[in-house]
Amino acid sequence: MKYSVYSPTEIYSGAGCVLSFGKFSEYGKKCAVITGKNMYKKNSVLSDTLKALENENISCLTIAEAENNPSVKSVFDFSNRVKEFGAEFIIGIGGGSSMDTAKAVAIVAANDYLTEDTVFSVPSDAETLPVILIGTTAGTGSEVMPSAVLTIPGDIPIKKSVKTKKSYAKVALCDFTYTSSMPDNITVSTALDSVCHAIEAIYSKRGGEWSDIYGHAALKKVIPALFDFVENKGKIESIREDLYFGSILAGLAINDGGTSFPHSMGYMITTMHDTAHGFACAVFIGQFLERVSKISDVSETLRACGMSSVDEFKNKIDLLISKYYTRPELTSEQAKKYAELAMKMNVNNNYLELTQENCEDIYLEMSRGACK
Ligand SMILES: [Zn+2]
Repeated sequence: MKYSVYSPTEIYSGAGCVLSFGKFSEYGKKCAVITGKNMYKKNSVLSDTLKALENENISCLTIAEAENNPSVKSVFDFSNRVKEFGAEFIIGIGGGSSMDTAKAVAIVAANDYLTEDTVFSVPSDAETLPVILIGTTAGTGSEVMPSAVLTIPGDIPIKKSVKTKKSYAKVALCDFTYTSSMPDNITVSTALDSVCHAIEAIYSKRGGEWSDIYGHAALKKVIPALFDFVENKGKIESIREDLYFGSILAGLAINDGGTSFPHSMGYMITTMHDTAHGFACAVFIGQFLERVSKISDVSETLRACGMSSVDEFKNKIDLLISKYYTRPELTSEQAKKYAELAMKMNVNNNYLELTQENCEDIYLEMSRGACK
């Protein structure tokens, strides 16, 4: 058995872990807090963080302007403000977009020579400012990954990753109570994102035993909690705790294995049909497991999901999605165009060797689900 894993983020979890952390000052006396514009209203995460910084006499610049799909321009704008303030470290608070913004700003602020054109080819050993991440959703796994996904605008906006070996967060503070402000549909979408991360990493070319172990552990946490949430069963606190823990486990799985066609094909559904990331990927996950099952043994994955067949998995996930989201009906021209673009992305980080025609079929089958 071979494995080689780098996963340096220190993780603290549990209710109150931001206020009790007590080690922010190890990273400096001046900090920039980056978060979304609605975070003031959502819950106590921002006030808890500012109070924890004050308790350690850390002066703070708050930038509550992180965008939903962060643009390169916003990252450079924030980075200039961070440098002007003299921040020694950065705290990112929110979902994947805010956390990714914080990671990207930390890279740009530490490397003056980077421009909006060269940022995507930053050397892999480039320094970054230290980053601490505090999640408020449970799905992205961004807390334990080095990459920051940025958007380049255009007719079809393009997403690209910025990362270095040093852009992992130093610390992730995972307090599930901050995820309770998510509306039901976002709770379900982000949990489905975790399910996709876990399954895509298990059946990836890049990953090994490591992503299998973390991926299956994630499914055992997320799948029962997700169905309990939808069926209104069980204690909501333990459901939210399991969903958050599962998202971190799934993040550790993709950190090793990477994502595959549900993510690359889902990208076009997100951008062209204004769909939440988790739903956009999850509409393909049944087909993914089905195709993989024709060439690999998926019984361990089904057991981890508490299901006895691929058909059961597909039907239950599709039914769950349909309660919250209506999938788009695609024309054959759209399927063709999206397939062409998907082929340029990470579509084949799996054992399937998909062709463009296969991708077209997958888009059309997903779309037929919309007409059921
Ligand atoms: Zn994802």
